[in-house]
Amino acid sequence: MSRAGQASDDAVDRPTFAPRCLCLDLEVGIDDDRIHRFGAVRADTNAQLTHKSGSLAAALESLDRLAEGAAFLLGHNIVAFDLPHLAAASPGLKLLELPVVDTLRLNPLAFPRNPYHHLVKHYQDGQLKRVQVNDPLLDVGLTLELFRDQSESLAETHRTHPDLVCAWHWLTTREAGSAGTNSFFTKVRGAVRPTDGEAHAAIERLLAGHACMTHGEAAMANAEALGWAFAYALAWLSVAGGNSVMPPWVRHQFPEAGALVKRLREVACADAGCAWCRERHDAS
Ligand SMILES: [Zn+2]
Repeated sequence: MSRAGQASDDAVDRPTFAPRCLCLDLEVGIDDDRIHRFGAVRADTNAQLTHKSGSLAAALESLDRLAEGAAFLLGHNIVAFDLPHLAAASPGLKLLELPVVDTLRLNPLAFPRNPYHHLVKHYQDGQLKRVQVNDPLLDVGLTLELFRDQSESLAETHRTHPDLVCAWHWLTTREAGSAGTNSFFTKVRGAVRPTDGEAHAAIERLLAGHACMTHGEAAMANAEALGWAFAYALAWLSVAGGNSVMPPWVRHQFPEAGALVKRLREVACADAGCAWCRERHDAS
């Protein structure tokens, strides 16, 4: 374990982007499923920590100290990967109680058009494009750079398509453990989480002329279960006709997203008043 003061801080020392977060990246052994290395950076102070050998328990204690005062944890695939491994290695870590923001999950919303982002692989699991293997601190820098780009892109989407970001804010913050995502979208929109009524109205405006409203209403009633999958479906619909493809990891982790797009656009409903279905599916 060492404090790395000089390496790879080009992505984190820009004065205009210093969120009060701890950004981290673990490297886990394929064979033993244990943490071999990790890197972490406080984006607000640029304090850094790397663990490459020695006592993992001691390194995780240092990581917990580095997280003190952070508003949230940031990582790429941190929800499905890093957090479970940290919890398994040391379930008493205080940092596990912090809100979380996952750049992998934000990416299809921030960059719905192919190829999403130059730092993210399009295929397989949406991993970061590593410039060099076995340097978790570099991956931390890439994650922070990606997060800055995502923040800027979503702020721009909020300016041009506020209904879309309103819907995403509502849909991605329904499950437990979404405090970090809620704070993120609250900052992007300059508004607290929308009410059910505000979100429903926004989604109806988004779907009008682009999808079946009957299936849309059913999806809204089932928003609790759909959550991120519905958000990804709206992202896809927002660029439908362009060169967008749903990322393979989304199809894998959120299979309902693709199924919902199909229902919204291709499955005729029985409502005589549904403009989309009567126009799209009844033509003979
Ligand atoms: Zn319909």
